[in-house]
This record gives sequence, structure tokens and C-alpha cells, in this order.
Amino acid sequence: MQVSVDQSLCTGCGLCVELCPDVFAWGSEGKVDVMKHESDTCSIEDVADQCPVEAINV
Ligand code: SF4
Repeated sequence: MQVSVDQSLCTGCGLCVELCPDVFAWGSEGKVDVMKHESDTCSIEDVADQCPVEAINV
């Protein structure tokens, strides 16, 4: 799976970091960086669906 966050859309709400911290982490300027592209502990698709601005692409 290839995961990316559109930094121009991300509002820094923190939802993805809360739900899937092994994949999403705080980067520079309050935006989110992708640390890895798979997870055994959370559903990346579910997090992408819940992002309020649809900034997560899987
Ligand atoms: S859930 Fe979406 S808007 Fe919120 S921090 Fe993550 S990528 Fe950014």
C-alpha cells in the first residue's frame, strides 16, 4: 500500500496521529508525515475515510 498526505489540505487536526500513530506522525509546521505504509494495529483505509478534509490518499 502507498500512503500519502496532501500537506496543502491537511489542517493538522490530529485525528490520524491519534488513531494510527505508527503510520502518521507530526512533521514540520503542524502537518502530518507518513512514517510507514502498512500497519498491524490500525486500518489506514478507515483513518483515510475519517480525515475531515480527505487529505490522506491510499
Ligand atoms: S486527519 Fe487529515 S487533516 Fe487531520 S491531521 Fe490527519 S491528514 Fe491532517
